[in-house]
Amino acid sequence: QPHGRVFNFSAGPAVLPVEVLEQAQADLLNWRGSGMSVMEMSHRGKEFQSIIDAAEADLRALLSIPDNYHVLFMQGGASTQFSAIPLNLAGEGDTVDYIVTGSWSKKAASEAKKYCKVNVAATGDNKSIPARDSWNLSADAKYVHYCDNETIQGVEFKGAPDVGGKVLIADMSSNFLSKPVDVSKYGIIYAGAQKNIGPAGVTIVIKAKVLYDAIAGSNGFYNSPVDPAVRSLMNVPFTIPSNPDLEKEFIAQAAKQGMIQLKGHRSVGGMRASIYNSMPLDGVQQLAAFMQKFAAQHAK
Ligand code: PLP
Repeated sequence: QPHGRVFNFSAGPAVLPVEVLEQAQADLLNWRGSGMSVMEMSHRGKEFQSIIDAAEADLRALLSIPDNYHVLFMQGGASTQFSAIPLNLAGEGDTVDYIVTGSWSKKAASEAKKYCKVNVAATGDNKSIPARDSWNLSADAKYVHYCDNETIQGVEFKGAPDVGGKVLIADMSSNFLSKPVDVSKYGIIYAGAQKNIGPAGVTIVIKAKVLYDAIAGSNGFYNSPVDPAVRSLMNVPFTIPSNPDLEKEFIAQAAKQGMIQLKGHRSVGGMRASIYNSMPLDGVQQLAAFMQKFAAQHAK
C-alpha cells in the first residue's frame, strides 16, 4: 500500500483511502479558495452551509429519501439516539418494542428502559434472527426498534421487517449506505457516521463472499458462528474452533503483514474482519490468502 499504509479491518472508525486523505489535507489548508479549513469556518456561514447542503442532497440522492423525511446531522453518536428516540417518541408510561439480535440492540433496549416501558418482543441467540412469526409485538407500541446490522456478532437483516404498519426504527450504524434501503418503510433510520460512510466504489457483496468462502473452504479450520441466512456483509466474525489459542497468533501474524484490527470484539473473542466501503477488494483477497496459508501451516 502507498505511504506504508496497512489494510485496516477495524469495525470503526471508518478507514479512509489515501486519495480522500490527500484531498482532506489540501482542504484543511484552504477549502475551495475560501482561505480556511472547515474547522475554522463559521457554522452559520455560507461556505459551511454549502457543505452541509451538499451532504444532505447527496444522501437524499443515494438513498432516494422521500421529500417528507427530514435528514438530521447530529452530534453524540448512535448511542445518543438510544436515549433520544424514546425521549422524543414515547412518554413515561408508553410501551415500545425492541427486537434484540445482538449487543447493540440489547444496549438500545436497556437505555430505553430508563424512559418508558420496553417490551423485548424477540431475543436472538447472537447467531440468527428469530422468525418473524415468533415476535411478540405489543398492540400499543409507539414504535418497533431493531438493529439492521449487529457489528459485534455479524448478524444482518436482509430487508426491513414487516411490523404491521407500526413505526419502524432501525439502527444502521454499521451498514449504512452499503445497500439500497426502502426509506419509506421506516419512521427513523439512524447511524453513527464513523463506520461505513467512506467513499463508495467497491462491491461489498463480492468482498464479503471472498471471506465467507475462505472460511467455508478451510475444512473446518475456521468457523463462522452466524446462520448463513443472516451473515453480515460488513462485519465477518470467525474463530479457530479446534485451537482457540492460535487466534492470538493469527492476529499477530496478520498484523506483521499489514492487516490490522482483526481481533474480535472483547465481549465475544475470536476474530472479526470489518469490510466497510473503503476496504479494497485487494485487502480482502490478501486476508483470504493469508487465512489459507495459516490454516495449511497449523491444520492437524
Ligand atoms: N449501534 C451500532 C450497530 C454500532 O456498531 C455502534 C458502534 O459501534 C453503536 C450503535 C454506537 O455508536 P456510537 O459509538 O456512535 O455511539
